[in-house]
Amino acid sequence: MSQVPSRPETPAAALAELLAGNARFVTGARLHPHQDAERRAALVHGQRPFAVIFGCSDSRLAAEIIFDRGLGDLFVVRTAGQVVGPEVLASIEYGIHVLGAPLLAVLGHDSCGAVRATYDAITGAAVPTPGLQPIIDRVAPSLAAAPSAADLDAVSVVHIRRTVDALARSGLAEAVRSGACAIVGLTYRLAEGRVRVIATAGAGLAGVVGAPVLGWPRDR
Ligand SMILES: [Zn+2]
Repeated sequence: MSQVPSRPETPAAALAELLAGNARFVTGARLHPHQDAERRAALVHGQRPFAVIFGCSDSRLAAEIIFDRGLGDLFVVRTAGQVVGPEVLASIEYGIHVLGAPLLAVLGHDSCGAVRATYDAITGAAVPTPGLQPIIDRVAPSLAAAPSAADLDAVSVVHIRRTVDALARSGLAEAVRSGACAIVGLTYRLAEGRVRVIATAGAGLAGVVGAPVLGWPRDR
């Protein structure tokens, strides 16, 4: 749309924009784009976000801040431990299929409370309240799949990768196969404020993730 001339239109361009914004956040050179009254007015009649961010609800992981973006840029879905349920999947699909975002970013992080709560529940270190059980049930398979359940940051990485894989086989599968969208798994380090790419689904991201990403290795 004319009111959003700089919108990235491809998965690779969208990921490059996210990584560039994160680099600005890390270095303190933030632009705070699209946060003014003019932008607000331009979006009254519609939105075309360039990425869906599906991240952990952790208060230190605010999407528009860590990617240095503003109004109308990101369609954000967050749950503790970025666990997927029917409403979450429907919201993600709305962002991709209806709003036309070319990229879905699954965003996890180190020192994740949901991963810790799952570990504590499984080892008996703590008894969760019944309402937390759906989160624990959905994180537990990632804990079981990790090389060491006690290495909780490694569990977080496994959980991000498994979530990317699951979403690639969901109602997004055809869009990923056709290249209309791609999925990237990102992990965020609380101390540094930096994201790194740890998983991708879809052919459209090869040009972006083939190069070193902000100095981080792609894998642990
Ligand atoms: Zn978390």
